Formats: sequence, structure tokens, C-alpha cells
Amino acid sequence: MRQAYIAGNWKMYKTAAEAAAVAGALASALASETGTKVMLAPPFTALHAVRDALKGSRILLGAQNACAELEGAHTGEISLRMLRDAGVTVVILGHSERRHVYGESDELVNRKVRLALAEGFEAILCVGETLDERQSGVTEKVVEAQTRAGLESVSTTDLAKVTIAYEPVWAIGTGKNATPQDADSVHKFIRGVVGSVYSAAAAQAMTIQYGGSVKPENIRALMAMENVDGALVGGASLQAETFLPIVKYDR
Ligand code: PEP
Repeated sequence: MRQAYIAGNWKMYKTAAEAAAVAGALASALASETGTKVMLAPPFTALHAVRDALKGSRILLGAQNACAELEGAHTGEISLRMLRDAGVTVVILGHSERRHVYGESDELVNRKVRLALAEGFEAILCVGETLDERQSGVTEKVVEAQTRAGLESVSTTDLAKVTIAYEPVWAIGTGKNATPQDADSVHKFIRGVVGSVYSAAAAQAMTIQYGGSVKPENIRALMAMENVDGALVGGASLQAETFLPIVKYDR
């Protein structure tokens, strides 16, 4: 049995005070939750405030990105050392906005994944096809290439600290979500890729989240699918009123 894992990606929204207010509300509301793993990834400038707001709670603190180097002349980047210092234990890597808007390559995403794991972080590796790729029938080819490249040289031991988020680019922030059946079929395919690179046991243990316009109204149907183990949520994670019902999808 894989543990359900719901993560909130706050992207470039919220000041430190706004982020701490929502994180505090979530921490109180989820104080007695034990089943589902929950993570929040606020903007870098709100990490310290959110860490303080989450003190004593089971909600994990995540970062939306990290540099592939630990320190140096990298103007505008944030290193894993700084993220650890801010209380971060999970990093989201290869988000489609990083890949498609900021030009991150598979090779760079892999360097980030390897460094994050070597530094003791958990990683969420995002993969997903664009609308053009889906319409051209190359979804599987794209997610296989991103999965293989993202996990290149990751050991079986370190793989246990990786979650894969399947996020079809056309569904992110657009209100168009993949049907639960579409999501499940790509997740099953990704699980097969992990199985062929590692082992059947590693594939069965791999947590695969779906991301792309997840809302309180569609989370239950998504989570009912065999290969959907959780969600990476953008817009609907910004307010406690919409994120809580997603975390409590089974209630
Ligand atoms: C995301 O930020 O990864 C995401 C899936 O966003 P949204 O839920 O808003 O589509």
C-alpha cells in the first residue's frame, strides 16, 4: 500500500505574512490527521515564516526549485544548503514552468535530483507532455524520456526518496484536467518505466502524483484510480477552504 501524498505548490503567490496565515490554518485543521502525507511549497521568501507556522505540525515544508550547485557565483539562485537552513525537506524539481518557461533541460533537472538526494532531501520529479505532444500521440515517449533522464544515475536506495508527479502541461492552471482514466493510464505507464529501469518492487513502491487543475470536485475520482497515489496542487492549494477538502478527499 502506498501512502497518499498531497502537495501544494504556491508558485509566485503570497507574501510571507499571507503564506504563514494559510499554513497556520492548515496546520490547525490537520492537527489530528495521520493518514495522508501533506507538503506545502511556498515561495522562497515565505519559507521561514511558513516553517514557523508549521512548527509541531506533520505538514512538510517544500521548495519549488533548487540550484544544481551547493554554492557559488549563481546570481538569483537558491541552494539546497539555504533550503535546509530554512527547514525544507522536500524539493519540487522539473516543474513544467521551469522546463518550458525557464528552459530547464532534462540534464539539468537530473543534476538537481541527484544533488537533492545526495543532500538528504526528498524530491518530487515532475514530468508531463504539452498539448502539441498529446495531440501528436507522443505522450508516452515524452514522459518516458523525462522519467528516464530525471532518474539517470539515481540509486535504488535513493529512489525511495523520489515521488514522480505526472503533470500534463495542458492541464496546469487551465481548468482542464485529465480524466481519471487518462491520468491512471499514464501513471501505469510511468510505473512500468520505473519497473524496467529498477525493479517491479521499486515500481510498486513508487508514489505517483497527478497534477493539473486538481480541485475538491475531482480529487476523489482521481484518487480512486489504482495508480494515482496523490496530487500536486497549484491553484486550489492557495486557500485552506479549497486545499483541506483535497487533503481530506477520503472523508
Ligand atoms: C502545479 O502547480 O503543479 C499545478 C498542477 O497547478 P494547478 O493545480 O493550478 O493546475
